[in-house]
Amino acid sequence: MRGSLIILFSWWVIPFVLLGCTISTMATEQQFVTIALGTAGGLTEANLSSYLLAPVGSTDFVALDAGTLLTGLQHANTKGNLADIVVPPESPLSVEGQVLTQHIKTYLISHAHLDHLAGLVLNSPDDTSKPILGLSATIDPLRDHLFNGRIWPNFGDEGSGVLLKKYHFVRLQPGVEQAIAGTSMTVKPFALCHAGVPSTAFLLQANGAYALYFGDTGPDDAEHCDNLHRVWQAIAPLVQQGHLRGMFIEISYPNGRDLSHLYGHLTPEWLMTELHRLAALVQPQRPTDALRGITVIVSHIKPTLQRVQPERDQIRQQVESLNDLGLRFIFSGQGDRIVF
Ligand SMILES: [Zn+2]
Ligand SMILES: [Zn+2]
Repeated sequence: MRGSLIILFSWWVIPFVLLGCTISTMATEQQFVTIALGTAGGLTEANLSSYLLAPVGSTDFVALDAGTLLTGLQHANTKGNLADIVVPPESPLSVEGQVLTQHIKTYLISHAHLDHLAGLVLNSPDDTSKPILGLSATIDPLRDHLFNGRIWPNFGDEGSGVLLKKYHFVRLQPGVEQAIAGTSMTVKPFALCHAGVPSTAFLLQANGAYALYFGDTGPDDAEHCDNLHRVWQAIAPLVQQGHLRGMFIEISYPNGRDLSHLYGHLTPEWLMTELHRLAALVQPQRPTDALRGITVIVSHIKPTLQRVQPERDQIRQQVESLNDLGLRFIFSGQGDRIVF
């Protein structure tokens, strides 16, 4: 009797389970794949900001910043996350070399700080020809102070020294959408404030879905600027329409720093303050429902020289305890593959 009741219940419930699965699959259709090449913001030379991004099903990547490239690819390979990369039998390249030279189609650089550029510079002798995209405020110092024929050969197509012209500098205009060469994605940049250094957020689009990548940024209150507010205003309609799949944004430090010691960065409290501002723009009546389910990949956590490294766990616990918006926070390891 008990067995037949269970069977009866099971048959009755199956159509609803199937219906539920269909609805949730539709609502959470994954659009982007990212491979984390570098997830921290300094000190550790081999794990600096960089993420590969492609539409799901594609291996034509844009590199979002390029602090660490080869070491990140090695971690990804060790973790089995480059399994869909095909190296032609006649090629002498390693799988990491194949990705670096053939699958990274374009670099998008958020700002000119070294922790976002070191991997690009160090891998440039063995890289292939491709564009480097950024605002003029990023491209000009890269041309003048890195690829200048003095501290490194000039692999660019502008500036001083012998021009090797491997990289083509492309200056993006704030708020203007542009195709990303070699991929099916577009990018629209927004200026950010980062302790006096111009930084950038990139809004990436593929098949009508959007991902938002932030370079380093402080909160508007500390930076005395309104650039984050402008980004929230620009993306609020995309969130309302359900087109924003996720964002990459920094949390450099745990809570407890006063505004004068943020140095152009965010803490869990300040990130949640800013995301509440976005939520209020998206759904003024019910802001706590506005961002539910959106993926937030946390980047740029700063290691310390202390024997115990509490930052990562501490930041994770702090931001989760403040997460009253139903956000899907992801603290990725180096080489991880995330689909969202
Ligand atoms: Zn940085
Ligand atoms: Zn920076």
